[in-house]
Amino acid sequence: MIDAHCHLSDPRLQSMADEVVSRLRAAGMRRVILGGVNPDEWRLQESLAKNYPDFVLPVMGIHPWTVRDTEATELEPMFRLLEEKSGKLHILGEIGLDFHQDNSPAQKTKQSKWCERQLRLAAALNKPVVLHVVRGHDIMLTLLRDIKGLRGLIHGFTGSPEIARRYLDAGFTLSLGPRTFQHKKQADFSWLGQGDFVLESDAPDYKKPPVSATNLVSEWIKTLTEGSRFLASLWNIPEAEVWRRSRENLAYHIDNMLA
Ligand SMILES: [Zn+2]
Repeated sequence: MIDAHCHLSDPRLQSMADEVVSRLRAAGMRRVILGGVNPDEWRLQESLAKNYPDFVLPVMGIHPWTVRDTEATELEPMFRLLEEKSGKLHILGEIGLDFHQDNSPAQKTKQSKWCERQLRLAAALNKPVVLHVVRGHDIMLTLLRDIKGLRGLIHGFTGSPEIARRYLDAGFTLSLGPRTFQHKKQADFSWLGQGDFVLESDAPDYKKPPVSATNLVSEWIKTLTEGSRFLASLWNIPEAEVWRRSRENLAYHIDNMLA
């Protein structure tokens, strides 16, 4: 299996990274794709990618929570640093809009501006993006319409079938994780095609501090298998086929990295 989105670069995991990686590998994980948050976290990604070059795929971006919580004067140098690093990256993200905590007009303007700058950077470099969108689908879909040539993953997708259709038509793939399947029945996903998804854990759960590598990895794998079981039963196909599809759908965006 390949985890399409996780935070192995979470600062809380660094002291146990060796054990987490070897336990994930032993459980059948071939590669993990990270989600970028801020410059401190990008540095952790760089050291993980150095230590586990064939296992960790770095993905850097200024997360919408970082945009929300950072002064505009500090965002400018952050963006310049991202520009410097972007040449070496295969994917940019997490880029996005999150108005769950603050949906004021000022916040919408601020997040839209930094989201758009990062999307334009990705488009100019012709690189896929990982998008984090919470209560901001209309603004995001307008940006994706106006900025040509974007593609990538919609991380932790929880929107309606109509919103899903609009992202799929825009060239994106839905990255499905624990929040996607929470409280959902199979009938809720009758619209989902086998070419439309990838599976992600979004591990670790930031609400539950990891107590040990063993515990963390068992939760991690459990989250992913809950997703693959759900889809296997939805489509009446073997779970291994769900993982093969997920990998194939990922390869559409980042083919050379998944060999
Ligand atoms: Zn994330």
